[in-house]
Amino acid sequence: MKLNHPRADIFVPAGGDKIAALARVTHLCIAAHQDDIEILAHAGISDCLDQPDKKAFGGVVVTNGAGSPRTGPYSNFTDKEMRSVRLEEQRRAAALGGYAIQLQLAYPSSDVKTSGHSGVAADLAAIFAGCSPEVVYLHQPADKHDTHVAVFLRCIEALRALPADKRPKHVVGGEVWRDLDWLVDADKVALDAGRRPELAAELLKAFDSQVTGGKRYDLAVMGRRLAHATFHTSHATDALAGITWAMDLTPLVTDPTRDVADFTLAHIDRLRTEVAERLAKFR
Ligand SMILES: [Zn+2]
Repeated sequence: MKLNHPRADIFVPAGGDKIAALARVTHLCIAAHQDDIEILAHAGISDCLDQPDKKAFGGVVVTNGAGSPRTGPYSNFTDKEMRSVRLEEQRRAAALGGYAIQLQLAYPSSDVKTSGHSGVAADLAAIFAGCSPEVVYLHQPADKHDTHVAVFLRCIEALRALPADKRPKHVVGGEVWRDLDWLVDADKVALDAGRRPELAAELLKAFDSQVTGGKRYDLAVMGRRLAHATFHTSHATDALAGITWAMDLTPLVTDPTRDVADFTLAHIDRLRTEVAERLAKFR
């Protein structure tokens, strides 16, 4: 497998052959930045740790981390230094989380935001050609971070380009910047992110350059998972200790003609209808 960017990084935490490690992957997350995987796909990481003989987690980070915010001890770091810090942080998370493989494609955000960028498209095609994941975790299309949405779109393009029988059966988009609590319950996919809380905290803290300046993603992500589990239903006791909400994106992959914007906006329309109907009922 050849990745196109000269600074692309392939890391197999347990050592051994990269091609074989990728081929084992059953749960694949493709995200924009270092730490997004650990925020949105903890359920997948846990699934694989629960069944190490049957399941294996693969992580892909598309951008290079050069534009990351930096504070405290990192405030004077150059973009180049920041790239290498973030690369190492992601490798550390992959080792902690027992990932089969961690790929970092090393593109600047501007490349990812370019529709049809040949390097990004070729890398994603090579990754999907090298494994047969049961489930793919992506950013969700209503995220408010431009690079997240761009990575989501590049991934949908790559999945649609696969032969129909090679397309994964289950594709979900998880929350990072903007949560998905606003979806109507029928549209919500509950990812069980309440398992292995100690590991979850360690995974988030692996990104020291991001949490050390006071942006406590480690606490905020754990708090959001707990809040979602508690507020999911008013009458039931909490079945899950933590939830990451996700949107089912499989219809966008099984039907390549489906318009991405129409698909996404239909979720907002369903929320609008639900709110209007409840108000009308008691007026
Ligand atoms: Zn991100």
